[in-house]
Parts: sequence; structure tokens; C-alpha cells
Amino acid sequence: MSSTELATGGITRTDPCILLLDDDDFHRQLMQQMLITLGFVHVHHAATSGDALNIIAERGAFIHIVITDLDMPGIDGMEFLRLLADQRSQAAVLIMSGKDENILRSVGLMAEEYGLTVLGHLHKPATLSSLRDKLLPAINLDRPRPRPPFFSYSIEAIRTGLELDQFEPFFQPKVILKSRHVYGVEALARWRHPEDGIVSPSAFIGLVEQHELMDSLTRTMLEKSAKWIQHWRDAGFDMSVSINFSQSSLVDTRLSNWVMDVLSGLNVSPENITIEITETLVMTNIARCLETLSRLRMKGFELSIDDFGTGYSSLQQLARVPYTELKVDQGFVTGASSQPHLQAVMESSIAMARKLNMKCVGEGIESLDDWNCFETLGGEIGQGYFIAKPMAGADLELWLADWRRRSTYQ
Ligand code: C2E
Ligand code: MG
Ligand code: MG
Repeated sequence: MSSTELATGGITRTDPCILLLDDDDFHRQLMQQMLITLGFVHVHHAATSGDALNIIAERGAFIHIVITDLDMPGIDGMEFLRLLADQRSQAAVLIMSGKDENILRSVGLMAEEYGLTVLGHLHKPATLSSLRDKLLPAINLDRPRPRPPFFSYSIEAIRTGLELDQFEPFFQPKVILKSRHVYGVEALARWRHPEDGIVSPSAFIGLVEQHELMDSLTRTMLEKSAKWIQHWRDAGFDMSVSINFSQSSLVDTRLSNWVMDVLSGLNVSPENITIEITETLVMTNIARCLETLSRLRMKGFELSIDDFGTGYSSLQQLARVPYTELKVDQGFVTGASSQPHLQAVMESSIAMARKLNMKCVGEGIESLDDWNCFETLGGEIGQGYFIAKPMAGADLELWLADWRRRSTYQ
């Protein structure tokens, strides 16, 4: 393939092939001119979704970007995107319409849910600069797509890893935004794989859940976290740890017994542990889950509702379970400062936590803007890459000392 310079900015890229779908002849021609000005020489165009789908059927893999209008007679833009996804198209999609922002955004989400790669949306009539901004991220089209991490390991390999004690918690700090004091850490499971290095939960958690190995993983996480609590206490850091529990474990009404046994053997009190729960499974055994959660709370554990706002963590759960903490899902926190609709969800989640006398944690604080936005809207505690990424237990002490030093001088 040859190489072309983007007319603006002089960025080199491999020639992408664009399919432009718009029933408005004038706007389609205008767009085509702009694409040529930007250096895109391979542009197919179609006035109807049917024509566009024929081009895709013929040239499938050669189409790198699809720019589509929404409001069209016959097959409209939404249906076209679904049919594009049905054809397992690898093309990146740019949505274009004169409709309002909320509609464009939800069609973008819809397309992502159908499995398409979405570059964003563009208001009609498009301008050269807005078109360039949206297409710039697509110039690396030849970059290999990341391999989906799901189920890349067999259940036998995971089981062996658990038996050989290769799983451990990594810890990510949670910080009180106002004072910058470290409020605690969240324990996140990592597999220290002998060949592949540190493996994240997305590669094993689903299988662990499916094959009823969750209790074994939770026990490992609890035991190892409790040992670290002891260790940090001896080093002068009084640290509480949040541990993720699966709903499937909560169905076992004897759960609190073995949890207490593990902790008392290690001289760690329940007040040092927060149990985080996401409603990943349909709560089939609500009575049993409630029994376990109420018992855990009575014994002194803090209870946290994780990924709040995602639909899995429902309002109904909030009203039923004696939670002490609400974690606003990172989808509403990261980048919220420039997105008013995210702020609206964040603000009402924070207000709800306050009314229910719960602490409120913002997950996914990735920048100073995220920190300021969450704090300004009344959020108390933050967690995210801007503060620290999850780290091995052995690295936390050094991080804590460094954070204390930096917080004192800021
Ligand atoms: P979670 O409990 O909501 O944990 C937060 C996830 O967000 C972690 O991913 C963390 O590394 C990531 N994260 C933290 N800060 C940022 C940020 O600023 N930006 C972005 N983009 N991500 C951030 P991780 O470690 O891959 O864990 C994913 C999920 O796996 C967890 O989500 C939790 O639901 C589950 N999980 C992890 N460990 C365990 C475990 O021991 N038991 C159970 N049942 N589930 C676990
Ligand atoms: Mg969590
Ligand atoms: Mg979460």
C-alpha cells in the first residue's frame, strides 16, 4: 500500500478507504470534497443504505471507515449500523446527523453495543476541521486490533494456577480528596502466570465464576489481604482493604463463618475490611444474599455497592441492603468534566449516597480534571490511575511514603 500525507498536519498514514452514506446529494458532494482536501483519495459513496450495503458486501475488508447519515428513507442509519454489524464489519464508524447531541450519542452507544468501532459523531453540515478531528484517530487503521482477553485460558490452567497459589491481590489506593489522606486500598485479583507475567481479571474471572471456583479465589484474596494488613500495621500504616465478593458466594449463608475464621486466625478485625458487591448475576436467591449481607454488616464489615449506575447495581439493591459505601462507576467519572450528562448522573449518585448516609467513592479518576469535577460535585473519596494504578503488596509501602511526602508539600 502507498503512503499519503494528510493535507493538514502532515501526518503520514496508510491509505484508508472510506464509504460515505448520505441521501442528501449536496451534502454528500461537499463531504467528498472535504475528504479529498484532507488527503483521503479512496472514497466510495452511496445515497441509500441498500447501495452502501452492496458496496460492503463486495468490498467488505477493504472499507476502513464508514461515515453514515441517520435520517434516510427506507433503511435508516440505525438499521444500517445493525446490518453493518451483522456483516461483522471491521470498519470504524463515524455517525453524522443534524439531530441533537443526545440522539447522536445514544446511536453511538447503540453501534458500540452491536460490536462496531465508533469514531464519534459529527453535526451536519460538517466542517473541514470537525471532520479532520474525528478522522485523525483512524489514521492508524493498520494497527492490529487488541486480542480480546476473554477466556484466553482454559479452566484447567486456571484451576492449576489456583492450586499452585499463583493468584494474589494487587492494591489500588483510595484517597480522601479534600485531605489527600489514604482512606484504604481495593484488592484486585491478579494471576502471576509463570510464562505470561501478571494477568488481569478479565482473562479469568468469568471462567472462575462459571466453574464454581470463586470461593477459592475469594479465600485467597481475603487471606493474602489480611496478611498484608498485618504487615502494614507493623510498618506503621493502619490500612483497610476492600475485597470484591461475587453474588454467587453470598448465597452461601455460612460465608460469614469462614470469613471470620480467616480473619481471627490472622488477628484482623472486620472493621478493616470492606466488601464490594456488584450485581453481576441476577439475584436469584435474594433472601439468602440478604441474610449473608446483614450478618456480615452486623459483624462489623463495611459493605460497598460497586459500579453504581451501570444498571447491574440497581436502586432496588440500594434500598434493600445495608450498604455503607457507594462507588460511582468509572463510566460516569472518567472525562466527566467536559460531559454535562455524565456530571448529572455523578451528581445525583453523590447526593443519593449522602442522603443514605453512605460514603461515596469515584472510580476511574484519570486526571486532575476528573478529581476536581468529582470533588466539586460533593464526592468524598477518589480511586483511579491519576492517583495510582493497582500495585503489588510489596510496592504499596513505598508508594504510601511517597504519597505522604508529596501531599505534605503540595
Ligand atoms: P472493579 O471492582 O470495579 O475494579 C475497578 C477496576 O477498574 C479495576 O480493574 C481497576 O484496575 C480499574 N481501574 C482503576 N482505576 C482506573 C482508572 O482510572 N481508569 C480505568 N480505565 N480503569 C481503572 P481490574 O483490576 O481489571 O478488575 C476488573 C474487575 O474484576 C473489578 O472491577 C471486579 O469487578 C473484578 N475483580 C477483580 N478482582 C476480583 C476478585 O478478587 N473477586 C471478584 N469477585 N471480582 C474481582
Ligand atoms: Mg470493586
Ligand atoms: Mg467498580
